[in-house]
Amino acid sequence: MTLNFALTTDQIKTSAKALKIKIPAYADMLDFYGSIFDAQEKSKSRTQIHPVQISEEMRNVKAREKLPLIEINDFPFDENESGRLFYVICNLAKEANPKLAADAETILNAMDKVIKPVKLFSGLLTGEDALYLRIADELNIAGNTLSFISYNSLKPSLSMCADQLSFYLSKDEPWLKGYCPICGSPPILSILKSGGDRALICSFCWHPWSVKRVYCPYCENRDGQTQQYFYHEGEKEFRVDLCDRCKKYVKTLDSRETERMIYPPLEQISSLHLDFKAIELGYESGIRLSMPT
Ligand SMILES: [Zn+2]
Ligand SMILES: [Zn+2]
Repeated sequence: MTLNFALTTDQIKTSAKALKIKIPAYADMLDFYGSIFDAQEKSKSRTQIHPVQISEEMRNVKAREKLPLIEINDFPFDENESGRLFYVICNLAKEANPKLAADAETILNAMDKVIKPVKLFSGLLTGEDALYLRIADELNIAGNTLSFISYNSLKPSLSMCADQLSFYLSKDEPWLKGYCPICGSPPILSILKSGGDRALICSFCWHPWSVKRVYCPYCENRDGQTQQYFYHEGEKEFRVDLCDRCKKYVKTLDSRETERMIYPPLEQISSLHLDFKAIELGYESGIRLSMPT
C-alpha cells in the first residue's frame, strides 16, 4: 500500500476550505491551524538536516525485535529554520484567540532573554517538561502554549527525518504494530485507504504505517466482539473506534467516504468534537491531547 499524504500549500488551503464549509464551527480554528500547516510546508523546502544513518546489522535487529528505528531524542533538526518558524508561529498566534494571542506576545517579548528557541527544541526532544513548566511559570503563560509552538516549529525537521528513515523499513514485511516504526510513538489517527486497507498515522513524526483492519493499536486487541465504533450522521467519513478491552479509542478517517484531499493534521483538528464525544462515553485517548486554549 502506498501512503503519501504530502500536499502542496495550495492543496492544503483547498482542503481547509472544504472542511470549513462542512463544519462552520471550526472556521476560526481551521484558519489558525491552516496557516501554521501552510508555514510548515513552506519551511520544509528550506529545512536541512543531517540524515540519520543506520547500519544494516542494526536495521535487521530493529526489524526482528520490532523496535522503532530511532528514539525521540535522536531526531535531528534544523536549528535556524526551526528558530525562524518559531517566530512565524508566534506571530500567527497573535491573531488567534485572546489568551493565546497574549501568550504569544509575552513569548515574543521574552525572546533571547528568558526564551532561547534552540534550548526549547532540545528540551522537547529529551522530554524536559520541567524546563517548559519553569518558563511558563516565570512568564505567567499557559503551560502548553510553549510546547505547542516549539513542537510545531520542529515538525518540518521531524517529518523530513521520518521520510528519510522510511527507506530503512522493510517493504516486504509490514510493521503491523500499534506504535510508529520510525519513532515508537502512538498513533494520532487511523485511515482507511481506497482498497479498505488500514493505516495508522504517528502522533509525533506523522509517518503512516499499515495495520490489520480490526486492531486496537493500544492493546493489540484483534477481537471484533470487544471493539465497536460510532459516527455522527452527516460525517460518515469519520468514525471513532472504541476498544472495550483497554477502554481507549482512535479516530478513523474512511477516505472512501470523502472527495476532499486528505491532509491528516487538518483532519485531526476538524474532528475534535469526536474526541470529546468518545471521552464523554468513558473512553480515553491513546495520546496526550495537547492543544493551546
Ligand atoms: Zn513516529
Ligand atoms: Zn485496546
